[in-house]
Amino acid sequence: MAFDDLIGNKRIKNILTSYLRHNIVPYSMIFFGPSPSNLLTFARGFAKALNCLTQGDDFCGHCQHCIEADHESFLDLRVLQPDGQFYKKEQITYLVEDNFNRPMKGNKKVYILTGAHHMNPSSANAFLKVLEEPAPANVFILLTDNLNGLLPTIKSRCQILKFSPLSKNEITEYLVQQGDDAETAQLKAYLSQSNAENVVTGDFEEFMNKRAEALAMLSGLLQNRGVEVTLMNLFKLSRSREKFVEYFRETVNLLSLMLRDIMILLVDPQNPNIINMDYKETLKKLTSYISIEKTLFLIRKMEYLLRDIQRNLNARVLIMEFMKSYTDYENEGVA
Ligand SMILES: [Zn+2]
Repeated sequence: MAFDDLIGNKRIKNILTSYLRHNIVPYSMIFFGPSPSNLLTFARGFAKALNCLTQGDDFCGHCQHCIEADHESFLDLRVLQPDGQFYKKEQITYLVEDNFNRPMKGNKKVYILTGAHHMNPSSANAFLKVLEEPAPANVFILLTDNLNGLLPTIKSRCQILKFSPLSKNEITEYLVQQGDDAETAQLKAYLSQSNAENVVTGDFEEFMNKRAEALAMLSGLLQNRGVEVTLMNLFKLSRSREKFVEYFRETVNLLSLMLRDIMILLVDPQNPNIINMDYKETLKKLTSYISIEKTLFLIRKMEYLLRDIQRNLNARVLIMEFMKSYTDYENEGVA
């Protein structure tokens, strides 16, 4: 395992390698980009490269330091995450105190702060102290997908590296390398492109089950079957706000993807560019239960619902809106 084995972002790899080669490693960096898991992989890779026993500007993946870093047991690498909603002041105070301690085994002590924008004013100000008094043997790497969530005074003291979202081809290639067959890799790549969560890093089987459930729900709603059951299930789920929001967001996302595919199949049945390739035949059958206008209406409606969930709208209101959009369309007369 080396920088070349990491997925995408070749430009960033070149920058990091050149820091190492010229010995100009910044004291504090921000890795900013849309995929948190990928940022962490890069940050961990960089931490390994800084301490690898066999490589100068890269990491080998099999020396003692590299192996320990991969198993979270390397004493000079700390990966931190917010304790609850935010980083607690004690977590940051610890960093301030530890700042001047020498590395225990390696060349550099590396602290990776995941979700770095989750700092409240008191922890952010405490962290600023660390940045104001750089210790030469330390490297701080802040990971975030929300640059605006960081204090300008923190940002101005960090080297900011902007990561690009991964392309479909990059994801496919990577997954094949990891042992997926070509078809699964391509499907995952397609689905991850459209913001479906946990496709690449999460439990794919669980994801596929959820997707099958969503298809059954869509199929029922479009054919006016089992509407009552769907409604009851949603109400039952809404007793726990947290579970409901997660389920609803995921389901509405999946339904949107399927509706987009239905739209494509309605307009051009031979088009090979649908996302849910493995459901093509079922989705094709569903086109006989829905018009282009209604599909467009539902796609738009699902977008509104996704926005409304984020706005913390009441679960009951969301459910009613959702059900009405599928069942009361004719009466509402919205085009
Ligand atoms: Zn190594």
